[in-house]
Amino acid sequence: MRYVAGHILGPDGFRHGHLGIERGAIVESGEGDPPQRPVLTGVITPSFINCHTHVADAHVRLDTSLSLEELVAPPDGLKHRQLGSMDDESLRASMRSSMDMMIRSGTSRFIDFREGGEQGSAALRSLRGPPHARIMGRPSALSYDKDEASRLLLNADGIGISAVSDWKAKDLEALAEQARGEGRPFALHVSESRREDIEAVLSLQPSFLVHMSSASDADMRRVADEGVTTVVCPRSNLFMGTVTPLARMVEAGMELALGTDNFMNGDGDMRAEMECMARLLRSQRADASHALSAAFDAPRKLLNLQSELSMAKGAPADLVAFEHQGSDPMCELLFRAGNGRRTALIRQ
Ligand SMILES: [Zn+2]
Repeated sequence: MRYVAGHILGPDGFRHGHLGIERGAIVESGEGDPPQRPVLTGVITPSFINCHTHVADAHVRLDTSLSLEELVAPPDGLKHRQLGSMDDESLRASMRSSMDMMIRSGTSRFIDFREGGEQGSAALRSLRGPPHARIMGRPSALSYDKDEASRLLLNADGIGISAVSDWKAKDLEALAEQARGEGRPFALHVSESRREDIEAVLSLQPSFLVHMSSASDADMRRVADEGVTTVVCPRSNLFMGTVTPLARMVEAGMELALGTDNFMNGDGDMRAEMECMARLLRSQRADASHALSAAFDAPRKLLNLQSELSMAKGAPADLVAFEHQGSDPMCELLFRAGNGRRTALIRQ
């Protein structure tokens, strides 16, 4: 048996203790020091689940002078033009490079909004994890074709589209209904840089939303009342020109999960994203510990993997160790700003 010891994050916060690991599972969980020398010490957390990525973007050449629309709006934004000119091999290499970045920073799973229609979803499906992909594919054009959607769902786990504003209402309703009919999740970006009609969004019965960074307080309360989780990407919002209104979101009662968004201007590092979220929450006079639940609890609820957070006997040992001798508050604002090197113990 191998032991890890230190500040262990569980469902009730951090505790000082140790875990014994055998064949990819936690077989012992105790207080204080382990009975033999641990292989890793530090801050021990479950591995990350990155709830929002676009992994094909790693090899897109960024132009920092462009606006959000000029960079990412379909079909002519910079990234769509560059992705469209990549052959299958280049596309997969770009995706693999994003996945490598994520595994190095302790991420075991990710939810990808996969552009490129059937080809894009098939390319990501062909890559082996970890990190393991939950693929939210989308049709190749901004229009509905039942047969195309059926073929898309052979490789994609669900549907993830750009925004209601990009689509004709009738087409989008048909697409969402087909996804629901096949028992697949349907999700979309909402109110990223400008406010969109939240009723039009909620009428699609989405499984989750992404952004809501330009939503009104009333929109936020509607989403909270409907119990729909929103994935926030604060570093991406900052880059694109918006400060995520996290305190207002928390105040409205929204359930927040964390993601890192595009790889052309991001590194997929969930610890850094979580730290950014904690700092923004604090600057907005809200409780910074919401960043921990957005990074660990909410993603597992989204994917129905709550047992992984338990850190109890029998749970899978999908763990990350950060070399920081943290003591709360919040392990000195989330592991002392990335100083600690990390080692992932992610099951293969
Ligand atoms: Zn996105």
